[in-house]
Amino acid sequence: MTDSPIPAKIIFILADPKATGEEFISLSGSLYRQNLIFSEPRELRRDKNSLELIVIFRDNNSFKNWSKNTEIKEFWQTKFDKLLSAEPKTIKERDVIIEVDNVINCACKKSDFYILQGRSLQFTDELTCSNCFGQISYSKVPLEIKLEDWQTKHERVYLNWLESGLFEKEAFKELTNYKKGKLNLEGEKIRKQLSDFFQIPVYISYFVEEPDNNHPCLVCGQGGSDSGLKRPSKICKACNTIFGYDDK
Ligand SMILES: [Zn+2]
Ligand SMILES: [Zn+2]
Repeated sequence: MTDSPIPAKIIFILADPKATGEEFISLSGSLYRQNLIFSEPRELRRDKNSLELIVIFRDNNSFKNWSKNTEIKEFWQTKFDKLLSAEPKTIKERDVIIEVDNVINCACKKSDFYILQGRSLQFTDELTCSNCFGQISYSKVPLEIKLEDWQTKHERVYLNWLESGLFEKEAFKELTNYKKGKLNLEGEKIRKQLSDFFQIPVYISYFVEEPDNNHPCLVCGQGGSDSGLKRPSKICKACNTIFGYDDK
């Protein structure tokens, strides 16, 4: 089995509810230097007396055993003991998405179409209502449509590109091969399945290196028609793509 990045959150329950918890900001730096997480910093969220650090572990072993890492233990264990009321808890982000309270789900019932976007680093804006810009909850998507699976793969490729490492070129090729790339073909398949299931047009927003650039439909090169939205402003109904992130 190949190991893949694991988005997760680490939860710290502060022993003193009035403490700022700012000591923990630098934990992501420690985790990175120990090669346990990807470099892209994720956020540190505060919720009453708990702190949540969102990170992407490099693999399953890092996810499971980060707190047993010698360096981490040496530097952080006394802080954990002193400042926390319990050992930090690590939860896979996938199990967490549903609970995230700042994701607004669509409940408007006025959608003209949905926008499907491959996962990058944010966990929002993956399947979006054109009217209220709320998210279509994955719990509404039947399991036969491998949306989550595709999103996980998309994120993995995206991260490979972002990391500028060994796989950067391959990842870029995969992300930008709109007509024949496996990743994008799978995305298109899922787009169609979603459209059939929800009985609503679903347009896919493909990866572009510079999202603010004005570009035509990435599949056919046509200019497309007005989406009715400010951003993304254009739709190609022939290819079911949505694009036009130009700010003007
Ligand atoms: Zn809506
Ligand atoms: Zn097109």
